[in-house]
Amino acid sequence: MKNEDTNKRGPWLQISLISAIVIIISLIVTFSLSSDNFKLKNASSASKKESTIEVQDTEFQNIKMITETSNDSSISYKLFYPETNFESLNEKINKYITDSKEYYISKAQENNKTGHLNVNCSIYPFKEKYYSIVFTKIVTYDFSKYDKEYHTYLIEKDNGNIIDLKTMLNNSTSNFRLLTNYVQKKLLKSKELTNKVDKDAIINYTNPVWENYNSFSINNNQLVMYFNIEDPSSKETVNPTVNIKIPYLNPILNKDFKSNKKSKTNIVSDQKKKRKLVALTFDDGPHKTITKEILDTLDKYDAKATFFVVGSRVNSNKKLLKEMKEKGHEIGNHTMNHKNITKLKKKKLEYEINKTNELVKKAIGEEPTVFRPPYGATNKKINKMLDVPVVLWTVDTLDWKYRNPKKLLPVIKNNVHNNAIILMHDIHQSTADGLDSVLAYLQKEGYEFVTVSEILSVK
Ligand code: ZN
Repeated sequence: MKNEDTNKRGPWLQISLISAIVIIISLIVTFSLSSDNFKLKNASSASKKESTIEVQDTEFQNIKMITETSNDSSISYKLFYPETNFESLNEKINKYITDSKEYYISKAQENNKTGHLNVNCSIYPFKEKYYSIVFTKIVTYDFSKYDKEYHTYLIEKDNGNIIDLKTMLNNSTSNFRLLTNYVQKKLLKSKELTNKVDKDAIINYTNPVWENYNSFSINNNQLVMYFNIEDPSSKETVNPTVNIKIPYLNPILNKDFKSNKKSKTNIVSDQKKKRKLVALTFDDGPHKTITKEILDTLDKYDAKATFFVVGSRVNSNKKLLKEMKEKGHEIGNHTMNHKNITKLKKKKLEYEINKTNELVKKAIGEEPTVFRPPYGATNKKINKMLDVPVVLWTVDTLDWKYRNPKKLLPVIKNNVHNNAIILMHDIHQSTADGLDSVLAYLQKEGYEFVTVSEILSVK
């Protein structure tokens, strides 16, 4: 009976029932597709959605890849980036992507031009434990000039923790110097590069400050360093990479990153052989104007030095101390009041050392990393008390005695040697005045100007 009833309702109802079912099925299919492989942004106004987002699985554990393509031809972009299982990493990646996109859109609208932004991404596994994520961003606003930029993360694949270069290099500034030295020399030797941008720009972007070295990956058993160098005068940008085999870096790497493979040469033995090092040291400051002049002259030669500061002068010269630290110089403890400490009772001696440490820490966030006793007067007992190296000198310029800028260079010329530690004072104008000729001479002789700690580490 029921069947007959249905039949009586005629073919129209059947057709509409069938089409309803077809529509429902196709909706279900579309929906399941969109949740698996295909997500629509702004689904409520699908026709106006600004971009299309596609999600793909990858061979990499805990990582999916997202392709986001603009649907607006006047603001064209394609962004390819990972979505991981780790929230804080995703936040960082999304911020990078959103910032890149928003900057590009605002710039494109400002210029009223149609350009293109492309963010690509590669992932490289290392040692079953790490992934390197490397973004390459290319942006153009007029299709005549293309700007490229690298951006990277090294992560632990099981928890998404980001590992910085500092950790890889065992938190060691001397390891860092070995690496930066290698990289800087390699780039400065490249004709292709120096034809495009000024050497000063290359030096600026590869100087040994951590910020210059935050783009890197480990790819195919090589450490790859990425640079985005802009020449401020020509506005030309170059994006060189430097590849270094992991076994070559073994001596400066944290054990988790060392390679089992052996290398005939390595970064430490090579640089020991080839480098001529000298440590310039300045005692008894800081001095408001003289130390400042010395810092500027050091800058001119990209020279690092060590300042043994007197504690009583620290508070009134915090700015200078901060500048020293920012520029990669080393700060040493030269006691609070510049007394002969071998003649002091324990309590006074401790005050002379500890109070200076405390004031320096207040000024720059960390304590001095070396100690030099006034007049070089020390003994075994005092040396044992200190938890930083006690450093004297190998070349005495007697600048405090001569007070003559013309006398500084001849003394150094006659006495300088590889790994020399040169004693000067940044409270005499004559020293500041004579320094330029000293730096020019030593640089011509092939010396590199490094901190005292670096000399100690290679000796
Ligand atoms: Zn002194």
